Amino acid sequence: MQKIYNKQNSFVKLYTLEKKSYQKTLILLKKILNDKKNLKSLNKYQLDIINFVKKDLFENGTKNRPKFKLSPNVIKEIELINKIDIPRYLFHRYRYEIFPEIQALDNYPPYLQIEPTSFCNYRCVFCFQTNKDFTTKSNGYMGRMRLEMFKLIIDQAKNNVEFISLASRGEPLVSPIIIKMLQYTRGKFLNLKINTNASVLTEKKSHAILKSGVRTIVFSADAADSKLYSSLRVNGKLEKVVANIKMFNKIRKKHYSKSKIITRVSGVKVSDKQNFNDMENFWSDLADQVAFVDYCPWENVYQMKLNSLSKPCSELWRRMYVWWDGKANPCEVDYRSDLTPGILKNNNNLSKLWLSSSYNLLREKHVSSLRKNIHPCNRCSVI
Ligand code: SF4
Repeated sequence: MQKIYNKQNSFVKLYTLEKKSYQKTLILLKKILNDKKNLKSLNKYQLDIINFVKKDLFENGTKNRPKFKLSPNVIKEIELINKIDIPRYLFHRYRYEIFPEIQALDNYPPYLQIEPTSFCNYRCVFCFQTNKDFTTKSNGYMGRMRLEMFKLIIDQAKNNVEFISLASRGEPLVSPIIIKMLQYTRGKFLNLKINTNASVLTEKKSHAILKSGVRTIVFSADAADSKLYSSLRVNGKLEKVVANIKMFNKIRKKHYSKSKIITRVSGVKVSDKQNFNDMENFWSDLADQVAFVDYCPWENVYQMKLNSLSKPCSELWRRMYVWWDGKANPCEVDYRSDLTPGILKNNNNLSKLWLSSSYNLLREKHVSSLRKNIHPCNRCSVI
């Protein structure tokens, strides 16, 4: 049977949510969203979305429209953001969750992934970094984003996209200007995430992360013992990673005790040898959350067998990537950017790329069950 991968629901297990936490959040949201003065900074379009959120959370929802729900992750994020920002957060969260389901678009992607660098010091068995066609420098995929490009993206995203990840095909912390990049994000986004293998995390970088706008740091790790870890995260040493995360936690406790950052250890469920209970026991003292995400065959979609999926890929309405050189792409499964709608420049901004004719044509083909004619979507298992 063909395995289907849904990125949105990719958590195999996160943490269990107490019922009272859900009820508490619902009461808080009712109070905030039913008070007009909390919504006065929103425009008509945003208010319309908030009305859908209210109907979904406090009434029976809207006919013929999927229901917006509070997942444990969303509840945790709501707990940590300022009350004044909650309506804006819900507006963007709704776009992220529901727009891909109803294939709705507005001027910006709900989620933006920015790649500080495509270089990585690891060669994880499930990653396209194992593909020499990708990592051979002369093939042009390897590089580091310049600060000017990063600033251009951040300036365009500010107030338009609130959900951002600093990560994609490479390890962000190997970028020599990551500290400057982090400094530039400060106070700009409601939900900025960074994913790292933590192997090159230093004191300086820990301070930069904790001082910046990062709200979630994801430490990628998939095992609870050194041997298994190194066999999956090739070039990685579990002891080093654990020592670095301990250092990060110490700095957080000592200098940023009021920091609202969420720390998460997240692994890819790729082998039967991995055990979630072992992971949870090992990592739960080191991070706020422990999670496994389901494995998707990322490493070489171009050589996968053709499949018969006809369902549109949700990523086309949810997310856009910008690689280190400014090239935009709808996903990182297509790590060679065969599907790119173009390159970000001053006159070709995030919004133009997101709404470009080639992106829209790709979406139209997916909606018309013509995914089978698009390479590499016809070999990909993401829906
Ligand atoms: S290759 Fe196509 S189907 Fe796969 S994630 Fe990218 S856009 Fe979606």
